[in-house]
Amino acid sequence: MIATLVAVTASAQVPCDNGLVTVKTNAAELVERACRASDRVFAQLDACDQRLSERVNIQTAQEILGDCLGLFHCGKAKIEVLTPDALSRKIEADSIFAHIPPQEFFESVVIHELIHALYDGTPCTAEFTECYVTSEYLAYALQFEALPTKFRAPWLDEFDPNETVKRDEISLGSLMLETDQFALSAWAHLKQRPDRCDWINGILDGSIVFTRPRH
Ligand SMILES: [Zn+2]
Repeated sequence: MIATLVAVTASAQVPCDNGLVTVKTNAAELVERACRASDRVFAQLDACDQRLSERVNIQTAQEILGDCLGLFHCGKAKIEVLTPDALSRKIEADSIFAHIPPQEFFESVVIHELIHALYDGTPCTAEFTECYVTSEYLAYALQFEALPTKFRAPWLDEFDPNETVKRDEISLGSLMLETDQFALSAWAHLKQRPDRCDWINGILDGSIVFTRPRH
């Protein structure tokens, strides 16, 4: 009987106070963390008058298909994110994320996937892969922006965010082959926009896409 009760509790979707996210996990602490992460990114989006159009369900997992850290299921308003324990097993010692505490990293992955959920409502006005790169650009940029400054500090020793990021650094090739560099460039590129909200809004209405140069 106790096992049944535990199972019922574990499978429940717990709503966050923001009304836009529910969380399903075995660990109460992760409900709090996922809700807090969603509050943080919603505050960033709110500043540009953007919000999710439908409620998203977040679920924690020990394993995700495709060896991902997090996954947004397009069209289903569902996100899977590895638990902090599972995340810490996945992060290699030489990763740019290695110094970030797993709980903090968990929150940042929630933010990354919520941006994919938001971009899911954007019409793709270019090739699919170009919209994919654009979605990753915004997801990484806002994920990094949401990290406490002290966790970005080690990157700044090797990477100068004030050096102008060229638009062709945001490409499918760099996303696939140098994901860490892509993520850092995305964050710096967004920071360098004088019109941050115009840029974010342009991406979300489909008018800005990182297209490949045409020859
Ligand atoms: Zn992504």
